[in-house]
Amino acid sequence: MPLIGFGAWKVPNATCADTIYNAIKAGYRLIDGAEDYGNEKECGEGVRRAIADGIIKREEIFITSKLWNTFHQKDHAVELAKRSLADWGLEYFDLFLIHFPIAQKYVDPAERYPPGLLTDVEKGIIEFENVPIAETWAALESLVDAGLVKNIGISNFNAGLVRDLLTVARIRPSVLQIEHHPYLTQSALVDYIQAQGIAITGYSTFGPQSFLEMGQERAQNTPLVLQHETVNAIATAHGRSPAQVILRWATQRNIAVIPKSNNVDRLKQNLDSASFDLTEEELKQISALNINLRFNDPNDWPGKIPIF
Ligand code: NAD
Repeated sequence: MPLIGFGAWKVPNATCADTIYNAIKAGYRLIDGAEDYGNEKECGEGVRRAIADGIIKREEIFITSKLWNTFHQKDHAVELAKRSLADWGLEYFDLFLIHFPIAQKYVDPAERYPPGLLTDVEKGIIEFENVPIAETWAALESLVDAGLVKNIGISNFNAGLVRDLLTVARIRPSVLQIEHHPYLTQSALVDYIQAQGIAITGYSTFGPQSFLEMGQERAQNTPLVLQHETVNAIATAHGRSPAQVILRWATQRNIAVIPKSNNVDRLKQNLDSASFDLTEEELKQISALNINLRFNDPNDWPGKIPIF
């Protein structure tokens, strides 16, 4: 799996196919999508156009998708993975993740797709379903058996849940995708997962940046990582941008990144972030910014239902 990929969350439908195409043209070889992002058809269009134009072959690009919370039941998981593949217009995914370790009530795609967070939109509530992770994992294993998915993994799991999954997994998870940035380093989880031989992908690497565009109050009240004086001093010392420093801080510790940008110059800058090295001391200085601040927290979901 490439260490630097392109994340497709919040990439607008109108420009998504072009953005994905341009990302591939700029050299990206991993696209991180999900059912929940509502742009899988457009992502697929961008990928297929790049293949048709001879920029890449299918086997040269790593495509990730994620199973949404409302489809955790075995039959639904298989059915929805197939639907996702059809949306992308692809025969297989390189990686398919359980998006969250939270099973929500099924919403028929004929009624609404993607269903989003609320299972009852009128009442504005989330309803849960009693589906153990083991059942969903078995469904993902059956996708590997059927050749529809090359690797399977998990996202937003804590160490205890991973430990439990490993007791039932016939096929081990290849990847854990987690929120990871200088304000939320999750070092104990990272150490445990890497010791298990499972790769880590960090998302929202720029911390509050991604949540500002959603108008999140917590992000608005948090100093920007990209403007932090420690990060800027290191950037100046290397003649690099603050974004490149943060991305390199992750990849140099073997944590893959999937930054999102709709801007071609930033796309290129982010991809070029592995062409220099930070010192051990600089890595430590950035890790020391940790304040255990999570922006993508299911405890904030509508209804304020405590989950973790
Ligand atoms: P991100 O950290 O990639 O930040 C995106 C923001 O940073 C945007 O506002 C963008 O304009 C800005 N940006 C990008 N490059 C920049 C640069 N070089 N200089 C300055 N600003 C720059 O955040 P994200 O989109 O939340 O996370 C990345 C990807 O991770 C998503 O697109 C998605 O694929 C994935 N993700 C997964 C989950 C999950 O639950 N598994 C959750 C969130 C995101």
